[in-house]
Amino acid sequence: VKINEYRLHLDIGFQRPTFRGRLEIVGENDAETLTLNAVDLSILAARSGGRDLEVRPDPSTQSLGLSGLPRGPVVVELEYEGRIGDGILIGLYRSAQAPDSIITTQCESTGARRILPCLDRPDRKATFDVEVTVDEDREVIFNTPAIESRLEGGRKRVRFARTPQMATYLLYLGIGTFEVVRERTDGGRVAAWMPPGSGPDAAYSVDLASRLLAEYERYYGLPYPLPKLDLVSIQDFAPGAMENWGAITFRDLYLGIDGSASTSLRRTIAVVLAHEIAHQWFGNLVTMRWWDDIWLNESFASFVSYKVIERLRVLPAVWSDFLLQEVAGAFLGDALAVAHPIRQPVEQPDDIDQVFDEISYGKGAAVLRMLEAFLGEETFRRGVQTYLERFQYGNARSEDLWAALEGSAGQPVAEMIRRWVERPGHPVLTVHRGSDGVHLEQRRFSLHGDHPRQYWPVPLLGSAGGRLLRMLMAGPEVTLNVGAEAELNLNSDALGFYRVLYDDTSYDRLRDRLPERSEPERWAVIRDLFAFLLSGDVELDRYLRFVERLESETGYLVVNELTTQLATLRPLLTEEADFVQAATRFYRRQLERVGLARRSGEDEVLGALRERVVGGLASLDPDFAEELAGRYGEYDALDPDVRGPLLVAYARRRGAAAYPELRERFRRSTGIEALRALRALGASDNPVLVRQTLAMGPSGECPVSSFPFALIEAVQRPAGRAAVWEWLPSNVEFLRKGLMGSSFLPLVFERLIPLLGLDRAAEVRTFFSSQPPAGAERGVRKGLEFLGIFLALQARAQQ
Ligand SMILES: [Zn+2]
Repeated sequence: VKINEYRLHLDIGFQRPTFRGRLEIVGENDAETLTLNAVDLSILAARSGGRDLEVRPDPSTQSLGLSGLPRGPVVVELEYEGRIGDGILIGLYRSAQAPDSIITTQCESTGARRILPCLDRPDRKATFDVEVTVDEDREVIFNTPAIESRLEGGRKRVRFARTPQMATYLLYLGIGTFEVVRERTDGGRVAAWMPPGSGPDAAYSVDLASRLLAEYERYYGLPYPLPKLDLVSIQDFAPGAMENWGAITFRDLYLGIDGSASTSLRRTIAVVLAHEIAHQWFGNLVTMRWWDDIWLNESFASFVSYKVIERLRVLPAVWSDFLLQEVAGAFLGDALAVAHPIRQPVEQPDDIDQVFDEISYGKGAAVLRMLEAFLGEETFRRGVQTYLERFQYGNARSEDLWAALEGSAGQPVAEMIRRWVERPGHPVLTVHRGSDGVHLEQRRFSLHGDHPRQYWPVPLLGSAGGRLLRMLMAGPEVTLNVGAEAELNLNSDALGFYRVLYDDTSYDRLRDRLPERSEPERWAVIRDLFAFLLSGDVELDRYLRFVERLESETGYLVVNELTTQLATLRPLLTEEADFVQAATRFYRRQLERVGLARRSGEDEVLGALRERVVGGLASLDPDFAEELAGRYGEYDALDPDVRGPLLVAYARRRGAAAYPELRERFRRSTGIEALRALRALGASDNPVLVRQTLAMGPSGECPVSSFPFALIEAVQRPAGRAAVWEWLPSNVEFLRKGLMGSSFLPLVFERLIPLLGLDRAAEVRTFFSSQPPAGAERGVRKGLEFLGIFLALQARAQQ
């Protein structure tokens, strides 16, 4: 069965719980029964060529069968009714939006079938001719521009330009009242749709989006395929953003910037915009054939977004953010037993949502970067251009990109990359110095410390004994013919996706000569040491000596990484005096450097570090937390980078006295300010207060898309963990339903379980192993693995 065109009319009333659809499907039928995907749609009439069709819904396969159709060209007419979701974030749903609400959609991966009966697969591209009838005072956004709007009996009917051939998961519809901010310099292609009153906040995003669009046109060598690009702000939204073709949606936090935005949020917004705009070609114009290649979509967008930001010179140290945001987490996730290959077979809708993770995004992006470094920047870009031209308005598989790259490079690409893409895990190279040279042995690195015997084709780039090292380590072992005392650098500029475990001598020397290494190399050393601490390959003592060595480090990449590591270790090692001392000293030294307030003309990345350093120190040092809490009265005048940590310190130091005030602050704030207040509400050391915060989710006071931030904050401390554990069993279903169909759902459990289980491992294991919430199974398995790793580290540290 081939569908060429969907002609859809939707009638949506704001005050009604349901919507009406009238659909004409134009296609070629070659079967007894035409099977379409549909969820929660009631078919009122089905006809073709004047004849009624028999309709058989099958909810278990999310489909309905239509029989009685002739073979050959057909036009199927359907009338149906669907539900406007309330408290769910998939399909067509209602979102809170100050001062009112909007109706919006999220179709990736399988939400389109909740809006219209369709062939809901990425390779079944068709054109969409859409008309929508709404209350006359509302505006409507679709993938293409409106071409006609007329009033009919007190309602408004808007008709949109026909779309190009496109996949159903990229459909978008938004209905509501907006303030529109348009970029004029590029012919008005880019516009932001903001809640009334917050239009000015979109200035930064609209300007940057327009510049990014032009830069991508240069990079890809193809014009932007649609006449307009809308950016839509949504309050209740599960992902950070979604690349709907021509109508990108953003969690409100990631579109508008006002004076309260922190430095790191500003940086994140630039990267998120660049990522979603990258998809307008890579993903939307050329689409993966099936979800097992979602990695290519996401890895490529994750990689190229940093590339294009670098070309525009809008963010200093952008590749540091690439390593921190995309690669560091991928290295950890990829070292679990549950790790999947970058390219992962998927069948069921629930499985699809669970592969939008750090491996599909970050590890894939790191491997593409390794490939680009190997082929050269221009060769890589030419291959990408060929691929896009060859498959535009169609679908492709990973192999098609390799073939295009081989064409431009004139050398085999598939061969080299296949093992990295199709096998889970990554290598650790262990260094042994012998009388005949330096032995390297590779195994698959495991955070459990067992390191199975497996190997990869490792492109070794670095130096040994003062000589350049450039070789492919094709087998499990290799001996470098250098002196036993040779100086080693086995991962130049951290370009390779592998770890190096040095011997004691090398580590001692490395520690002394660390400042001589490049910043990405210092980062790779401390990144690997942290993993080796978790796996038991190095002791806490050695790790802490490196932390000490890096106290006066000035590199953004290294300091940022260390703040993440120390924050991860803090809940596990609060009883270890050595850890607390070393971490406190590190934060204090860094605070002396970055200060509590922005200085004029300072490097932008200092702001991003300030937030992390202030928060880290306040979590360990009660005197500093007290000092911070004492400045609550000056809140609005303070540097936005210290506001988040200040609210948490205030909540913890003032307890019940501060709670009503923080709750009120949450109620009257939006965006980042609301999120800061919410985290503070979860941060209390008083279980009674945490319980009150937890009630805000199910009661609807806090949108379900933000609520997990309070949960994740709460489990950082014993009192919060007790409250969450008491609350969770009867509220798993609330979380599951609210976050269903999004990658946020497994992530929440992945984050909660390892900390929740610190004080009650057996109960947590039993509870989650016996009844993992549907759609979060992978997150639960990862969470349980991390719990085991954390407990093992605690036990070793206590010996
Ligand atoms: Zn993406």
